[in-house]
Amino acid sequence: MSPGLVLFDIDGTLLRRTGPHHRDALVEAVRRVTGLETTTDHIPLHGMLDPDIIARMLERAGAPKRLVRQAMPAILRAAQNIYVRKCPDLTRRTCPGVRRLLRALERRGAVMGLVTGNLTRIGWKKLERAGLRRYFRFGAFGEMSRDRAGLVRLALREARRRGWWDPSAPVALIGDAPADVQAAKANGVRAIAVATGITPLEELAALEPDLLLRDLRQLNVEDLVS
Ligand SMILES: [Mg+2]
Repeated sequence: MSPGLVLFDIDGTLLRRTGPHHRDALVEAVRRVTGLETTTDHIPLHGMLDPDIIARMLERAGAPKRLVRQAMPAILRAAQNIYVRKCPDLTRRTCPGVRRLLRALERRGAVMGLVTGNLTRIGWKKLERAGLRRYFRFGAFGEMSRDRAGLVRLALREARRRGWWDPSAPVALIGDAPADVQAAKANGVRAIAVATGITPLEELAALEPDLLLRDLRQLNVEDLVS
């Protein structure tokens, strides 16, 4: 049994400035499957799950709900296929303190997982291209639940079912968006907010996370494990 479970968001938390490839893959997937021209402009992508972003793109292009529902599985498949082929090298896109923290957690035997709005193969591809893949044992991804709180619930269930974590050991969720803090709190998980994404520190502070950091260099591993 591990001395702690640490769940990480990806965008703005582990990685930043990863380029337009993710957005472009969603737009291209919608085009291929439905023939519709869409955009992610004017959609607050931050903290949203990929399927919700795609649904908003389609609705803004005038697609009826029935089409959104019917086309979604094919769009999710296409978006992942497109992204994994186009994902750039991300080794220089990690947020400050990420590699040091992951190495330290690994040494302490903590179990690390992902909780992200990214579709499964997009999320894993980003980590692979950033050289961070090996630190993470499992993940809960955008298409697996209706909202982020549901993703956290799935991750906890999975870690418990596999015997990697039991509720007597600490668990934390580290994220850069208000949605991460809310999802952690909804599950009784320690919420650690980090201001390396687009949400200003003051806005994160208003949500009263258990810990609020400018970046992950400020995080002590002993704060995360028992
Ligand atoms: Mg994020």
